[in-house]
Amino acid sequence: MSFESVIGQKDLKQRIGAFFSGNLPQSFLITGTKGMGKTVFSEELAKSVLCMERTPSGSCGTCASCRYFEAGTHPDIKRINAEDKSNITVAELREKIIGDQFITPQISSSKVYIINGDELREEGQNLLLKSIEEPPSGTYFIIKVSSSDLMLPTIRSRVTELKLAEYSVSEIMEILRRQFGQTVSDEKMKIAAEFCSGVPGRATDLLGDEDLETIRDEMLSLVTGIADLSYTDILYTVYPFFEKNKDRVEMLLVNMLWILGDVSVFLSLDDPPGSSIMNRDKDVSIKSFAESHRYLSQMKIGKACEHISELRKMLSLNVNFETACCGMLIKVHKELAR
Ligand SMILES: [Zn+2]
Repeated sequence: MSFESVIGQKDLKQRIGAFFSGNLPQSFLITGTKGMGKTVFSEELAKSVLCMERTPSGSCGTCASCRYFEAGTHPDIKRINAEDKSNITVAELREKIIGDQFITPQISSSKVYIINGDELREEGQNLLLKSIEEPPSGTYFIIKVSSSDLMLPTIRSRVTELKLAEYSVSEIMEILRRQFGQTVSDEKMKIAAEFCSGVPGRATDLLGDEDLETIRDEMLSLVTGIADLSYTDILYTVYPFFEKNKDRVEMLLVNMLWILGDVSVFLSLDDPPGSSIMNRDKDVSIKSFAESHRYLSQMKIGKACEHISELRKMLSLNVNFETACCGMLIKVHKELAR
């Protein structure tokens, strides 16, 4: 496995390819939120650095170093994680890095430390400063962290940052297919890929989320039924579902937008192509809703979508959840009511 087999991250792979053909920095910072594949990326980078027949696309997969690496027995790679506490202690760093970094590698001509930056506090970072600034010859540091903000400016200015980019829907589909094979339907994978905001780990979590289908069904009955509900119903029966799913309200809202988008398609086309429908597995219900709500104009639907998008923006600004959410539901009700 070289970088060719890592899905996505075209720009980063190009940069790394250029490093491998020229000067290879010795200290890297790999950044990306949880679920972005920092570990996969750091491991491939480490393997390529250690590889004895490296090419611009990474490790060869066949040299002695690659074979040790794949077997999980390579002596020249050290992974530094907090042992039992939530942070890597200064004592652990002294023992595993400071006291180890000058020891000659055993298999490769280099050695690599992969450090979990999310578990590295200020004093640990300060201790590592010197090593990271002037690493011993042949010694490489890869710090993986969910955000570069968690690193001291003095560390940030001494490392080469590789920021993992959001994955496209098709890249996420590829990652999911590799992971789940035939055990999960394409339809389901597509939903997870669309809802994960470009983060593969989130898509995986979604596929394991037994509530995914419940949420989709709830949102369908909400959108198709909200016009006929009273304010009391909205506040006392619809809102509690949002409250209960506060942590994934984004998914609820995106779902609502998709359903409204499908309604809009069915209102304007009698027989729309399948590719223009987001909720293909629910097309019969959405089509029949559109047919019985011919009075709905595209403008009304557009406005309802605006209220939902507005709420998405507001929630990122830390507004009162209940007020903002109920406000959106009432406004959508008004747009869709006859
Ligand atoms: Zn190799």
